[in-house]
Amino acid sequence: MNIPFNNFKAEPQNLQNQEVSAAERVIRSGHYILGPEVSDFEQRWASYSGSKFSVGVGNGMDALEIGMRALGIGPGDEIITTPLTALATVFAIMRTGASPVLADIEVNTGLLSISSVERCLSKKTKAVLLVHLYGQVRNLQVWKDFCMDRQIELLEDCAQSHGARWDGVGCGNFGRWGAFSFYPTKNLGAIGDGGALNTSDPEIFHHAKSLRNYGQSDRYRHPIFGFNSRLDEIQAAILSERLIFLNDFIEKRRQVAAEYQARIKNPLIRILDEPLSAENHVYHLFVVRTPKRDSLQKYLKESGVETIAHYPIPAHLQIPLRACRSDPLGLMNAELFSDECLSLPCNPQISKDEARYIADLINRY
Ligand SMILES: *Cc1c(COP(=O)(O)O)cnc(C)c1O
Repeated sequence: MNIPFNNFKAEPQNLQNQEVSAAERVIRSGHYILGPEVSDFEQRWASYSGSKFSVGVGNGMDALEIGMRALGIGPGDEIITTPLTALATVFAIMRTGASPVLADIEVNTGLLSISSVERCLSKKTKAVLLVHLYGQVRNLQVWKDFCMDRQIELLEDCAQSHGARWDGVGCGNFGRWGAFSFYPTKNLGAIGDGGALNTSDPEIFHHAKSLRNYGQSDRYRHPIFGFNSRLDEIQAAILSERLIFLNDFIEKRRQVAAEYQARIKNPLIRILDEPLSAENHVYHLFVVRTPKRDSLQKYLKESGVETIAHYPIPAHLQIPLRACRSDPLGLMNAELFSDECLSLPCNPQISKDEARYIADLINRY
């Protein structure tokens, strides 16, 4: 067997056809930037996620930066986040001029530890930027109360958690905004770059809309500094088609995860804690931990199974972050986790048989 980590070519034929006609629709429309497809998709995406507004932007990293700038975050401010994330999360903080502060994680989930965040607080702390890593949301009401009590903002990096809910409420709605990426491999992905900032706050909505388009209020009026970070019409049209498949694709990811959970039984390999409720996890990634990570990865590769470590080097050990402030007790869990984590193929195209094949292979390791 040969099981790639992602397999877009194997997506349903009707989806592929709809994408092609969506692209053609845009090409023939003659309207390529900030036209009807973007505002259509923004409305669909806001409504799917349970937010009042959505602003389509160039990518997930820009969504984070624009979201923070819309809150006035900048030099002198500190934003607490996790070292176990796509580095874009941390770089987005740096791009605003604010300083990232890295707190440790919980080893059974890979998610930010609240007691470590507590140790990272200072007078400069403006926000906690939660990352719903691998598609998991956990304790969002606790985080919301934690931030409210300390009068700091709760911000959500939802790049991996499209469709995840806590207590029936979609992620991205627990603080002032949620930032999404539509990078092709994400649960809702474009066929190129894309992102969105979701919010129910009209001020943030208008500020973000202006920031993505050179700080304009009206054409050629620039009351604020801004960027060029717009979601393309073609990507928006394709995202609207792909959104129709999102719930089904999430269900398929959950089925793959359920096979792994039921079948993987090897004392050398641990699976992460299961979600408290099914709606809390959309399985962007299915991650196992083992002290023999590199050897397991090699073994699986020899049997045709592609795996990836998310993430092999935590942010504080990356060169641009050497001087970054972090938990005074250290980031031991993040370091251990980075050495041990391995993501198994988990996408809507993996069949039950393939998931079983992978689980059996792991059990024979
Ligand atoms: C993918 C990702 C990003 C960055 O998104 P881009 O669209 O690639 O800029 C940010 N944060 C997390 C957690 C991600 O997984």
